[in-house]
Amino acid sequence: MKTRSLLLIHLLIILVMLLSACQVTPTPSPTATPAPQPAAATPTTAPAPTPTPGVVVYPREKTLYTSGTQWGPPSNWNPLQTGTNAMGTIGLCYETLFLYDPLKDEYIPWLAESGQFVKANRYLASASHSVSENGQAADVSEQQQQATSNVYELKLRQGITWHDGRPLTSADVVYTFELGKLPGVYYGGLWNWLEKIEAVDERTVRFTFKEVRHQEWGNLLYSVAIVPKHAWEGRSEKEIVEGQNLPPLCSGAYMYESHSPDRVVWKRYDNWWATKLLGKSVAPEYIVDIVNPSNNVALGLVLKGEVDLSNNFLPGIATLVHGGYGIKTWYDQAPYMLSANTAFLFMNLKKKPLDDPNFRRALAFAINVDEIVTRVYGNIVRKADPTGLLPVWERFVDQDVVRQLGFTYDPNRAKQILAQAGYRDRNGDGFVEAPDGSAIQLKIIVPFGWTDWMEAAKAIASSAQAAGINLQTDFPDFPAYWDQLTGGTFDTAINNFGSQMSNTPWTFYSWLFNNPIVEKMTSGNFGRYENQQVFDLLVQLNKVPVGDTEGMRRVISQIQRIQLNDMPAIPLWYNGLWAQWNTINWTGWPSAAADAPKYLPCTWRGYWNMTALLMLTELKPAPKQGQ
Ligand code: MG
Repeated sequence: MKTRSLLLIHLLIILVMLLSACQVTPTPSPTATPAPQPAAATPTTAPAPTPTPGVVVYPREKTLYTSGTQWGPPSNWNPLQTGTNAMGTIGLCYETLFLYDPLKDEYIPWLAESGQFVKANRYLASASHSVSENGQAADVSEQQQQATSNVYELKLRQGITWHDGRPLTSADVVYTFELGKLPGVYYGGLWNWLEKIEAVDERTVRFTFKEVRHQEWGNLLYSVAIVPKHAWEGRSEKEIVEGQNLPPLCSGAYMYESHSPDRVVWKRYDNWWATKLLGKSVAPEYIVDIVNPSNNVALGLVLKGEVDLSNNFLPGIATLVHGGYGIKTWYDQAPYMLSANTAFLFMNLKKKPLDDPNFRRALAFAINVDEIVTRVYGNIVRKADPTGLLPVWERFVDQDVVRQLGFTYDPNRAKQILAQAGYRDRNGDGFVEAPDGSAIQLKIIVPFGWTDWMEAAKAIASSAQAAGINLQTDFPDFPAYWDQLTGGTFDTAINNFGSQMSNTPWTFYSWLFNNPIVEKMTSGNFGRYENQQVFDLLVQLNKVPVGDTEGMRRVISQIQRIQLNDMPAIPLWYNGLWAQWNTINWTGWPSAAADAPKYLPCTWRGYWNMTALLMLTELKPAPKQGQ
């Protein structure tokens, strides 16, 4: 039985660290430690999360039951605690300036009705004018203008209110971003490149940058939740950054209702601004999110309709989709799930022979990822592109570079590369020795209990051995795994924590090539790949305006060429956006079906703002049996 679906949690936690290091992540989390622990093995005796005596029972036809985000009792409702706050804190309750739709690569104006870089001075205005007189497309001049302007002007919608009836204004936006100056706030790094923020009037906010990091800014626009100044300004710094914030005063579609160790409950706010201003209303009157039970129990709850939407990794789900159990997934056939992040094989580049690009390249050709996809995952994941870029970023893959430098499972090619680089089996034990004759003995580590990764590691080790590379599995518990991975004492390891879907491959590369190299690499680049050219390209990519796809492609193509030449980490497969639901109580779910809404069916932190919130506006109570 496979267990473990804590990847997201860990992803979030790492992202915090990524944040503190490079100041932005797709789903930032401020926790400093890689807790909570993964469920080691499926405890078959785990209690079902059915209501205990004293727990309020909500009308079933008005209540959406979810699971898949909380791995422990809800502990805070603080939007600044992005890795640990209760499910829905950002998205259902607190809101962001924009939403971002990864499937369409579109920003959806939300609290903000608009926002853009504005003409910085007269010179730019005249430059723009002459370009358009020249008959060039106007967007060229706008792009130049965007690239040179360091002033971003944001317009809030008229008529947004907090749940206490007070208006949400530019003062709240200014206050929220100023909070970034407090130690420990995940978007604090913004102040390294933001000069000032001003409320021009009640609805207009002006950001003046010292240096515009467009990709990062594009990420913050949909990930920073706006908080009410009037309710927060009397609090101590510690309370602001670490406080429980209960009950939260929000602007969103839901308000805090209750919580207990096994659940958090939200109640619809019927005076929500988006109903009045955008005609949008959320269907469920209550959302009850259940703390993740064991896989067996979670599966049972979905089958029985006690949970409507599960965002857990449930082994064997593909079989159930076809078994007449009423279980639905995004696709009705393989790969069933959207791809959410990329699992890599990291290699320790400070150790021989992993410091040799030829050896790493041979290993890439040796791994049979198809076997992992089919046998370990039952086809609910997809094999990764050689660049590792997620399907939502396919437009950034330079196919010429991939054709020239890509890799695929080819054990003979792996052996050939090894032989050409001087790796030969000199003692007849079936494994190659290094060119200097020394023995090669390598380990691949994954955390004990993460059984799908354990099976994948076994497959990788066996593939490598077949190509003559002595690679053996090792399954330390999570803390030891994390310590080896971040401390640079591992040989090879599987990890995917910071490769999450976002508005830009910049977040992906910032994790993969995180720099500078420090004693503890907690935010990616676990193999300690050092290449100033790549680090400079990352900085360059960050400065390309959002929407300048060609400009981004030019930089990313160079990164890909270096990446595939040097092979600092091997992309393996795309982990799924685990999502399975039934239609017993709710219909109108998003999916790949032609007539279905195209929103992400996901309750994970960071996903409500990537359109999952809009899913709630499409759900409909299922017709009762007999009707
Ligand atoms: Mg040998």
